[in-house]
Amino acid sequence: MGFPKSNGNAADRLYWDVSQAGISRNLVKAELVSSVSWLIKLRWIAGAGVLIATWAVHILLRVGAPVAVLSAIGVAILLYNTFFFISERRAKQRGASEDEFQSLAIWQTALDWLAMTLLFHYSGGVESPAIWYFIFHIIIAAIFFPRHTAFLLSILAILLVSGTVLLEYIGLLPHHPLENYLPVSLYQSPLYVLGVLGFFSTTAIFVTFLVGSIQERLRRREAEVIQLSEDLQRTTVRLQAINQISKVVGSTLDLKQVLERLVETTAKAMEVRACSIRMLDKSNRYLEPVAVYGLSQTYINKGPVDALTNPLAKETLSGKVVNIPNAPQSPLLQYPLEARQEGIQSMLSAPLMGKSGPMGILRVYDVKANRFNKEDEDFISAIAAQGSIAIENAMAYQAMSELDKMKSQFIQTATHELRSPVSVTRSLLRTITAGYVGEVSEQQKEILERATRRIEFLQRLIDDLLDLAAGKVGSLLGDDLQPIPLKEVMERIIARYEIPAREKQIELKFECQCDTESLYVKATEDSLDRVFNNLISNAVKYTLSGGKVVIKMDTLDSEIHIAVQDTGIGIPEEALPRLFQEFYRAPNAKELAAEGTGLGLAITKDIVQRLEGRITVESKVNVGTTFHVFLPRVRETVQQ
Ligand code: ATP
Ligand code: MG
Repeated sequence: MGFPKSNGNAADRLYWDVSQAGISRNLVKAELVSSVSWLIKLRWIAGAGVLIATWAVHILLRVGAPVAVLSAIGVAILLYNTFFFISERRAKQRGASEDEFQSLAIWQTALDWLAMTLLFHYSGGVESPAIWYFIFHIIIAAIFFPRHTAFLLSILAILLVSGTVLLEYIGLLPHHPLENYLPVSLYQSPLYVLGVLGFFSTTAIFVTFLVGSIQERLRRREAEVIQLSEDLQRTTVRLQAINQISKVVGSTLDLKQVLERLVETTAKAMEVRACSIRMLDKSNRYLEPVAVYGLSQTYINKGPVDALTNPLAKETLSGKVVNIPNAPQSPLLQYPLEARQEGIQSMLSAPLMGKSGPMGILRVYDVKANRFNKEDEDFISAIAAQGSIAIENAMAYQAMSELDKMKSQFIQTATHELRSPVSVTRSLLRTITAGYVGEVSEQQKEILERATRRIEFLQRLIDDLLDLAAGKVGSLLGDDLQPIPLKEVMERIIARYEIPAREKQIELKFECQCDTESLYVKATEDSLDRVFNNLISNAVKYTLSGGKVVIKMDTLDSEIHIAVQDTGIGIPEEALPRLFQEFYRAPNAKELAAEGTGLGLAITKDIVQRLEGRITVESKVNVGTTFHVFLPRVRETVQQ
């Protein structure tokens, strides 16, 4: 078999061959083929042996014999063997069937026995030493043919030998004695004839029995080995299947995808018509179909499945694999008629067990009755166990993502509500400080200014939180990303810091080593402003007076690289891993500047990633810090 050929879907990458049923047949055929070739090889020796023996006996030992006839038999053996040799070659090339090899074997046996009988007759009949060669043929027959055929053949041998001997005895067949070998009249001696025939017959029967018994034992063993190897292969295939399923199912955390892949891969691995997953709903009472492969919509919507009353669901959810060999007749089915209409005959249900109890049911369906056995039960149980883990993981991930989204939404709503009272307070403070509502003493002014600074910090915190929340829910950038000329944006931002830098006696420089025409990134101006404003403000903020801040820009193959470099206080090594976390501020930064939200870098990283770029940092305490930003470069310079 094999799965339907791949259409690029991950599930279709599952492939394995389960033609194990063919193993034993193939072995039988292989044995037959090799036996036929073995016989052909032996026969070359036999034919040549007859010729050599005839001439040796005649010339060397001077035994009188019908040399011409015996030689003719030898030649005939070689000739028909040549014919078999060619036929066997052709049969092999053609990949001929087992039957063809079988008939080749039968024809060979028939001709061999004929040749043997002739040899026996022309070399002295009952006096012939060749009589014992018949035993070889009997052994070969006992090896190749089933036991009863071997017995029939050995009786045939006895009949052929006895017939020849008796016909010679009564004179119906001429006697061809070997001269100078045995007394020529022996064939007429009843006692001798009886003795030879008696011993020959018992030897023939006994040999057949003996070889047959050994052969039978060997065949039994062989069958056991074949059975074992079939079992092993089936187990391997199933293990591979489980492995593949867990790989395919585990390659995503999207619950819908996990469920869909699970039903599809299970159906394919078990070679069944359909597979479904029903999960318990929130009330833990009804089983809802959540993923289906190979079933009609009518069947899926056949009616509610109540976990408390549906007998099959009840039994499965109690933790058992339930095998239904004849679905339309099963008392466990709540909808037997619908199953019949769908063409379903067999079903196999396995529970999907979560950490806190049953979650649902994995079920396979097939159009054949009695389709599933114990192995299938074990198999689906293993898949259900694997699947349950994947489902639980995906569910946990989904719950986490929802929580994260909720958190962001909460921050967004809360900070939004805080924004207007804070900005109103700020302008009220400014009105008082400016003296519009009456004289303000120096002391009052100082307190008011401190309050203003605090309220400004609060406003910035709110703005950052809002941005962060907006970024996390994906609306900061919006859908309208467009090519933005980065160099111009950078120049604008840097210009903003010229006065603060000069006041702090910090040298601020911008170096651009690139061809200006093609420096475009796909972004929004706001997002770029946010990213580089944060980085440059940090550089200026965390650099002591007399220091230097250099912004460098250069182009890589498909990216633009911007480095914001300072000679400031640096970042302690242990702070680096937490740098981009929300609200994190390194101890040396807190010491230098009490005010700071620790949100700037979190927002920066979030935006850079959304722009499909990356940000890295290198720093040494009291030496300086460099942030590297890489953004994908877009080549089209056309602006909307
Ligand atoms: P805010 O941005 O609200 O003023 P912040 O600057 O402390 O606060 P981030 O911009 O997120 O917050 O920076 C986080 C921390 O990273 C800083 O507190 C500081 O410890 C460290 N950091 C960032 N940039 C530099 C830099 N150029 N030199 C030294 N430390 C830096
Ligand atoms: Mg900052």
